Amino acid sequence: MSETILVTGGAGYIGSHTAVALAERDVQVVIVDNLANSSAKAIEAIDRLGGRRVIFHEIDLLDADALGDVFQAHPIDAVIHFAGLKAVGESVEKPLDYYRTNLLSTMNLLDQMAANDVWDLVFSSSATVYGDPKILPIPETAPLGPTNPYGRTKHMIEDICRDAAAADRRWRISLLRYFNPVGAHPSGELGEDPRGIPNNLVPFVMQVAVGRRERLSVFGDDWETDDGTGVRDYIHVLDLASGHVSALDRLEPGCDEFNLGTGTGVSVFDIVKTVENVTGVSIPYEVVDRRPGDIATSLADPSKANEKLEWRADRSVDTMLTDSWRWQSNHPNGFNDEQHLTAEAEG
Ligand code: NAD
Ligand code: UDP
Repeated sequence: MSETILVTGGAGYIGSHTAVALAERDVQVVIVDNLANSSAKAIEAIDRLGGRRVIFHEIDLLDADALGDVFQAHPIDAVIHFAGLKAVGESVEKPLDYYRTNLLSTMNLLDQMAANDVWDLVFSSSATVYGDPKILPIPETAPLGPTNPYGRTKHMIEDICRDAAAADRRWRISLLRYFNPVGAHPSGELGEDPRGIPNNLVPFVMQVAVGRRERLSVFGDDWETDDGTGVRDYIHVLDLASGHVSALDRLEPGCDEFNLGTGTGVSVFDIVKTVENVTGVSIPYEVVDRRPGDIATSLADPSKANEKLEWRADRSVDTMLTDSWRWQSNHPNGFNDEQHLTAEAEG
């Protein structure tokens, strides 16, 4: 394990939990984030939970000079790159914003890494690169075919990394394809804090449970799945965080891809039932039309990560939702009530 790790997007949902996991291993974490989709209060929570202070720079990765200054200021050994825009629907409406932010910020990062002799990188890719999968569970060798601009930025960044590593053997890059991250830190002090109306199932259901939203819309019950609702591979954010630590520890020359998932499929109705069990709150829902671009089932074959990264996601769906609920019920409006209520009013 290297000693000083730069975490881009470290104030965000997955980055903040990974920063805690690194700090617990006595790593000096340097976070860069422009807080476009996060709060500085997450940094305070990381400091409390990780047991040592992280260094935080509020900068935009599109600002190459500011990023260069960060590399000059700290003896960075490796980078975990979470920063980016991630909302599928928004990426369809504003594709140029997504291509500009996700691609150019990654190019700036790779340039600054090479210029400062830093070659170790772990990148947040996504299961969305597989598009509508032809093989289930999905192995890393499955064909790629993202179906929206967000997914295409992930695919393009993967290609950029593969090409860079093929051209210069000093690069050691892991591309981590996450399935569906959910859950929160068990302290209830750090969790997912979406702005506006949540796009994803679990944050939405949690907001119904806490009384912020009236009912869940279930996007179709006529899929080809056991109960007719969409099936996904949900993974606890702490398991995801430990996957990054394992990937950093086991970087090898070149560029390799890993699925981070559990290999277990869970339906929308399974999630609703488990949330009702862990919260004791009944979740009103109505079945509505399918969401454009949705797929029936997404399920990881995680065996490559199990073997090569010596990592396994073993927290149960029950634990994921219990931890999400602790965070949501402690912080009904996320990190910053006023800011989020305003964002909702605007959204
Ligand atoms: P997040 O939005 O909570 O975190 C991303 C962070 O990046 C935010 O704190 C945001 O402020 C920051 N950021 C965005 N643009 C920036 C810029 N130009 N300069 C500096 N900082 C910037 O998202 P997350 O859920 O933690 O996701 C982290 C990464 O994992 C993203 O790359 C996302 O695409 C990927 N991913 C997420 C999921 C998921 O379901 N959450 C699934 C697969 C992959
Ligand atoms: N879903 C739903 N209602 C919602 C949000 C999601 O029924 O308000 C369904 C969605 O159709 C999918 C599953 O829940 O079958 C997970 O959706 P999410 O957006 O969380 O993840 P993704 O589809 O990106 O894998």
